[in-house]
Amino acid sequence: MKGRAVLFMGARKPFEITEYDVPDPEPGDIVLKITQAGVCGSDLHSWRGDGNPAPVAPGGRTTGHEGTGVVYKLGKGVATDALGKPIKEGDRIVYSAIRPCMHCHQCLNGRHNWCQQLFGTRIPTGQFPFFTGTYADYYYIRPNQPVFKVPDELPDSVLGFVNCAMGTVTEGLMQARCKEGDYVVIQGAGGLGLNAVAAARDMGAHRVIVLDRLENRLDMAREFGADYTINVEQEWTTPEMRIQRVKELTDGRGADVVMELVGRSQLMQEGIEYLGPGGTFVEIGNIVPGTPIPIDPSSILFGAKRIIGSIMFKPSLLPMMLETLVKKQGKLPYDKIVSHNFPLDKINDAFEQAEWLDRQTSITRSMLIP
Ligand SMILES: [Zn+2]
Ligand SMILES: [Zn+2]
Repeated sequence: MKGRAVLFMGARKPFEITEYDVPDPEPGDIVLKITQAGVCGSDLHSWRGDGNPAPVAPGGRTTGHEGTGVVYKLGKGVATDALGKPIKEGDRIVYSAIRPCMHCHQCLNGRHNWCQQLFGTRIPTGQFPFFTGTYADYYYIRPNQPVFKVPDELPDSVLGFVNCAMGTVTEGLMQARCKEGDYVVIQGAGGLGLNAVAAARDMGAHRVIVLDRLENRLDMAREFGADYTINVEQEWTTPEMRIQRVKELTDGRGADVVMELVGRSQLMQEGIEYLGPGGTFVEIGNIVPGTPIPIDPSSILFGAKRIIGSIMFKPSLLPMMLETLVKKQGKLPYDKIVSHNFPLDKINDAFEQAEWLDRQTSITRSMLIP
């Protein structure tokens, strides 16, 4: 029995598809049949070759981290999800996309998303268990990746982005201590941004302001509860104008939380200027190193502002987010975040169409469907 897996061959090179034998799970492990795999902003950064990307070995590597699927085979000893709910073949599962070591100082303190081995040690391409990326027919899950059974009432269309986009922004807002009454600014209204609007609202934000250059995304942001949107290519085209606009929209007090979800270094410089005293800037989008920017330290000293980074999320958020999705069903258009589905073998088209740099795209989030 064979399954397909996509290989990333390096920046600006077409993806290739190979086939591997589907492995039997070892005791404690699970083989998942992927049903959706998300094209995340970080995948686009690697594909585009932003910053100083690490070189890729000649044989390429498996890729994709966001996604969901159904249980294909359970390893010996696995009968339940992480919360003790029975699981069997064919059940829908969300799983932790990070593979923390569970033994380091951070893991022992419950900060699994700060583990230095966040995605485990890289397994050489073509070696057991073969299926180490979500852009594939199957995905191999180890015990350090907790899995959770999906509530029956949730449609498939809201599951693909839970274990990256939704989790990452929820964690970021929690790290920023977003709370009742806050004024929140979200830079970027793609898959992460839309989830961030909803999460900020849920945490009690009184005003949410969203910036993007694509009007279709800003429309969606309003549907998710944004009070104000700023199209950075239409009316407010310079950083100075946008800083002024955010000041007006926050009654002159500035934002309590600003979250960068685009992955453009300059947005940090600009975003810090949106903050009011005591405000927190959360860096999430700039996942690729190599694009430093100057920052005036005095700009955070006056008003005691904070700049923090946030990466992925604690797996304990997964069941909480599934519950949120159940609670918000029919109230928020989570089923519209995924705007496009592509067959797995059309992965090169999927990436070309999702590209937003220097062009317009109607895509907010796309999923690859094996
Ligand atoms: Zn991601
Ligand atoms: Zn660790």
